[in-house]
Amino acid sequence: MSIGQVPDPVFAQKMVGDGIAIDPTDQILTAPCDGEIILLHAAHHAVTLKTPQGLEILMHIGLDTVELRGKGFTVHVKVGDRVKTGDRLIEFDADYIALQATSLLTMIVIINADRVANTAYRSGPVVVGQDIILEVTLKADVATVVESGKLITSEPIVVPNPIGLHARPAAVLVNLAKPYQSVIRLHRGDNSANAKSVVALMNLDVKHNDRVTLTAVGEDAKAAIVALTQAIVDGLGEARSMPVAPATVTAQTLPPQPPSDPDRILGVVASPGLVVGQTYRVRESALNVIELAQNPETEKQALDRAIAQALVDVTAIRGRVKSRSGASKADIFAAHEALLDDPELLDLAHGAIAQGKSAAYAWQQAFTAQADQLARLPNPTLAQRATDLRDIGQRVLRLLVGVDTEAATYPPNTILLAANLTPSDMANLDRAHVKGFCTMAGGATSHVAILARSMGIPAIVGAESRILELADGIPVVLDGNLGEVRLNVSPAAIELVQTQIAQQQAKQANDLQSASQPAITLDQHRIQVVANISNLQDAEKSVALGGEGVGLLRSEFIFMDRSAAPSEDEQTEIYRSILVVLGNDRPMVIRTLDVGGDKPLAYVSLPHEANPFLGERGIRIGLDRPDLLRTQLRAILRSASAGQLRVMFPMIGRLEEIRQIKAMLAEERQQLGIGPIEIGIMVEIPAAAVLAEQFAQEVDFFSIGTNDLTQYTLAIDRGHPKLAPLADGLNPAVLRLIAQTVKGATQYGKWVGICGGIASDPQAVPILIGLGIRELSVSIPTIPTIKAQIRTLTLSDCQTLAVKALTMATAAEVRTLCPI
Ligand code: PEP
Ligand code: MG
Repeated sequence: MSIGQVPDPVFAQKMVGDGIAIDPTDQILTAPCDGEIILLHAAHHAVTLKTPQGLEILMHIGLDTVELRGKGFTVHVKVGDRVKTGDRLIEFDADYIALQATSLLTMIVIINADRVANTAYRSGPVVVGQDIILEVTLKADVATVVESGKLITSEPIVVPNPIGLHARPAAVLVNLAKPYQSVIRLHRGDNSANAKSVVALMNLDVKHNDRVTLTAVGEDAKAAIVALTQAIVDGLGEARSMPVAPATVTAQTLPPQPPSDPDRILGVVASPGLVVGQTYRVRESALNVIELAQNPETEKQALDRAIAQALVDVTAIRGRVKSRSGASKADIFAAHEALLDDPELLDLAHGAIAQGKSAAYAWQQAFTAQADQLARLPNPTLAQRATDLRDIGQRVLRLLVGVDTEAATYPPNTILLAANLTPSDMANLDRAHVKGFCTMAGGATSHVAILARSMGIPAIVGAESRILELADGIPVVLDGNLGEVRLNVSPAAIELVQTQIAQQQAKQANDLQSASQPAITLDQHRIQVVANISNLQDAEKSVALGGEGVGLLRSEFIFMDRSAAPSEDEQTEIYRSILVVLGNDRPMVIRTLDVGGDKPLAYVSLPHEANPFLGERGIRIGLDRPDLLRTQLRAILRSASAGQLRVMFPMIGRLEEIRQIKAMLAEERQQLGIGPIEIGIMVEIPAAAVLAEQFAQEVDFFSIGTNDLTQYTLAIDRGHPKLAPLADGLNPAVLRLIAQTVKGATQYGKWVGICGGIASDPQAVPILIGLGIRELSVSIPTIPTIKAQIRTLTLSDCQTLAVKALTMATAAEVRTLCPI
């Protein structure tokens, strides 16, 4: 019988693969074809055979039989055995199994579906050794490779993309591969995928630092291998740094805790903000899809037409999103365009049409099977791309069944509740009426969350399923800062939240108005509020928001997204142009290249390290490869005349390092005939804080990098999905190191700034000022708010607060000192 009839969704929905099920009348499982046993399940109820063509066939006796722990099964083979069609594999006690397990059905499934173009199965009674139960047509490329043998293979390539080959880099690879005639495959371990299929590439689940190889067969195989190898090494158009989620998002990515209060529905913060509105649940309308069709040719044409129309629609959406939210957000839809042209999807759909299915049914089965497979991947980023595939799949399906694809409109002040929303839903969102949304599916890194943040719509994802039980029109508060929807809120409480929102908006407008004024405390103590930037555009934005300079130019961003380091002239030009934007009154601290750890650089090959954060990172790379560092130092020196430039070095932990760098800088200065510039270090390794007194004698200033200082003090990986929220820079251990740094610096008349995330945290600001910090280098959007906050403080109160904070035992206790 068809695998679709098996009473278990895992098999029926072809999550394991395509194949057939047998209702046995005897008690022996025999080999359905020649092959080698590659896996024998410990519970002896399942065995996998690999055919000479590379097909992997899983045979699974019964349902839920794993629980029998081998009882009732006698195996006749072991892993590595070569078997012939009809050989005995496993004998089973049908009576025992029938009584103990859910079903005796035996599934025969091809698990490496990417090698299969088509299957045709037999149904009805069959006789072992006589009837063919399953015919499999291999993909052309597999056949070609086997036949021609002229296979070109690349060298192993280490994948530099921080989150592996997810949808966007996969789409880039596919676009680069498609123009070649050759059959091209990407291999990872024993698995491989068609390099012209986004879906297949995503299912290969290639992770950061995985080794992959490319193979190609065909006329232009060699050229393809050379070009594609380089493209993968270059990161396939992706910045080779970890995307830094906003602090509020990182802090909330722990899964929702069980509800302690029935009036609070918890979820994960996708986009911050507070809103009040009425619920409206998005109901998915079931589409009427008819399974069978008369004429395969007509069906194929219908599918082609729907795909062409979907492409036109998605391209239009991409244009809209690009002008509203920028190119990187629009790329989400570029990936959708690539999915529409995906050979694996089309092969699956065309295969089913050829077997007499309707275009709609064939397409639905094809994209659902692939999306289900993606959703099961352990890599959450790839698993979330299942939503993108379903999104584009539904778009085509709606066109096929003639259902309206127009954007829905909602009542005013809607808080949208949905099982899931797709990027298309976001692009079509009724912005005038939808104030916020909450979905059951998704994570903080999903495309929907990214779009919500760029649109400024408060949103919660991964929420408790209770959201789908709420009636429409209930007044609720959606708190995107805390990741919760509050129910049964009294009219008085709603009014309070509304007042709060209005006050927040008014305050933001006010802060903006005074943003260009200095940040002086009530007792006349001036704090410099400067910005953390990555490029020229950031510099422009920071000046517009009242930034008084740049406390940290993360120069590594100038080195990313390219295949070779920028030349000395190029760097000089970039640094100079930023200095020009800042003008003579705004100083800039430029930090030399800080890569390694979570920030790989494709053209700087680093050894594979067990603990990259404790390995070759920051200045350690600069000292190991002085050519890179010296080029940058020369560019910095040459651009210095364009403004007030200071240079700072990352990841300094030992005195020898700063002495070595100073010697290097002096040499370059002499050669260029340029005068001295101010030198500082990042204090981000606890050793530098503890030895601040010694370091202060070597440099002009310190800038404390609390992101790393906290990570190294608490031994918590700053990007750890579970632990990162515990790495709070207000932990008293970190505060004591800050105090020690300030003490060491002031002994020698040096100043201290902070450029880590806590400089932008209003709860931290008074304490940091009280500890003697002179400069806060903050994230650009927070400049007006932090400046305004400083104007409400007095230095003496801050000092009292800081003294108290240093005596506290936990970060939570410290936070109670400055409620906001
Ligand atoms: C820090 O570590 O606090 C810092 C500002 O540097 P980065 O976040 O770039 O490592
Ligand atoms: Mg750092």
